[in-house]
Amino acid sequence: MNYIEEPARKTPVLAETDVLVVGSGPSGLAAAIASARQGVDTMLVERYGCFGGNITQAMVESIGWYRHEGTVESDGIGREFEIRAREFGGERKEPQSVSQVVEADIFKCVADQMVEKEGIDRFLHCLGVEALVRENQVIGVVTESKQGRNAILAKRVIDCTGDADIAFRAGAACTKAPKSQLEGVSVSFGCSGVNRERFLDYVQKNPGSLGQWATETSGKENEMFSPYLSEPFARAREKGEIPDGVLTGGYWSSLTDTGEATYLNMVYMLGLDPTDLADLTHAEIEGRKQAMMAIDALRKYTPGFENARLRTFGSSLGTRESRKIKGRHIMTGDEVKNQAAFSDSIGIFPEFLDAYGVVVIPTTGRFFQIPYGALVPESVDNLLVAGRCVSGDKISHAALRQMMCCTVTGQGAGTAAAVSVKEKVSSARVNIQRVQEALKKQGVRIQ
Ligand SMILES: Cc1cc2nc3c(=O)[nH]c(=O)nc-3n(C[C@H](O)[C@H](O)[C@H](O)COP(=O)(O)OP(=O)(O)OC[C@H]3O[C@@H](n4cnc5c(N)ncnc54)[C@H](O)[C@@H]3O)c2cc1C
Repeated sequence: MNYIEEPARKTPVLAETDVLVVGSGPSGLAAAIASARQGVDTMLVERYGCFGGNITQAMVESIGWYRHEGTVESDGIGREFEIRAREFGGERKEPQSVSQVVEADIFKCVADQMVEKEGIDRFLHCLGVEALVRENQVIGVVTESKQGRNAILAKRVIDCTGDADIAFRAGAACTKAPKSQLEGVSVSFGCSGVNRERFLDYVQKNPGSLGQWATETSGKENEMFSPYLSEPFARAREKGEIPDGVLTGGYWSSLTDTGEATYLNMVYMLGLDPTDLADLTHAEIEGRKQAMMAIDALRKYTPGFENARLRTFGSSLGTRESRKIKGRHIMTGDEVKNQAAFSDSIGIFPEFLDAYGVVVIPTTGRFFQIPYGALVPESVDNLLVAGRCVSGDKISHAALRQMMCCTVTGQGAGTAAAVSVKEKVSSARVNIQRVQEALKKQGVRIQ
């Protein structure tokens, strides 16, 4: 690669705050809300035009699809997301669980309102591009936006970018699997014009199951219902309408009374790196092409979809895995599967795993604790990480990436950052009992 020298320049300081959260997905929203509730100045910056991350940008509405009668929940801000969505009329029955989906566009308004209510300063259309680090302490972030390059100074920064963008730029140790091993990326889409009764009748007669697509389960999942469709794609492939290796199957989620399938997760593309510009560009364009092929197959081979048409694409590619920090503690799949407990627990999450073909559904009340150490980068202080880029091995990612789990790490990070500001100690040295007390006061279950 060729390089050029850029001239040194002065960067205007756009704002100063106590806690700066970069990225506003489930983790970032929870982090900012939790921090603001501790009474410290909090700012949230987001690169796109809405808060919500994958929920609003990739239309991933099935935030609680793992929930069954026996599931033990974390009881934090994630549950508030669902309650607020219900108050907005933005929820519908999720087809495979006792949960409701949160409607993607309505959730934009839910998030706006929650951010406003908590008095959080915020910028949309604001990309965090660089970490400002002095003597291994993060002191802020450089942003790029339509108004140019700015700095936001902060006593604590929480990286909720999903890709550990800020931690990586700050020089914190990060890992990223080779792209051949990363989870796939998706272009989500929705359809209108679905004949609901006809489609649901077809599903009832041809029910999908988790065992149909999972390669590893705990056994009890194999016969559980899954809104998974593969037959239309197999038939289209037989006819030469879909090439080999793409569109092997996918999920529908909720259906409105007026025949809209609001979230179809059927395009899953492997071998792409969500931090690589060429891969991102290819994935957006190829994903749309595959989505249109999927709609053709649905129209031809799925009763109820005969007159369906494209309603919407997610506003951005949905990504599931890229960089992760190497934290003070690296979560393992064994810990997730064996009810791990930690003295620095900041929350619990039910034993729900879904990635790489591994599926475990929390029907039995089992859960694991999440240690603060998984949010704390090894070598850079006053920086915390929450969401899918927290520290963990491959199999633990199958649980830690889940949206509700991201709200747990977000709420833990936001609370810890704020407590550390109030107590004037760095985030790495915060008194974990104080953090746990604050979380319990917010109704979070930590053990
Ligand atoms: C198609 C698909 C289906 C999925 N299905 C499920 C499911 O059913 N259930 C489930 O629980 N999980 C599911 N997941 C996984 C889940 O959506 C993610 O793991 C989760 O959203 C991660 O949350 P997060 O807060 O870490 O990051 P994200 O939701 O990715 O949010 C990151 C936010 O940060 C912003 N951002 C990124 N970089 C910057 C930057 N440098 N500066 C400023 N802003 C930035 C982004 O725009 C985004 O708003 C799915 C994922 C995909 C893609």
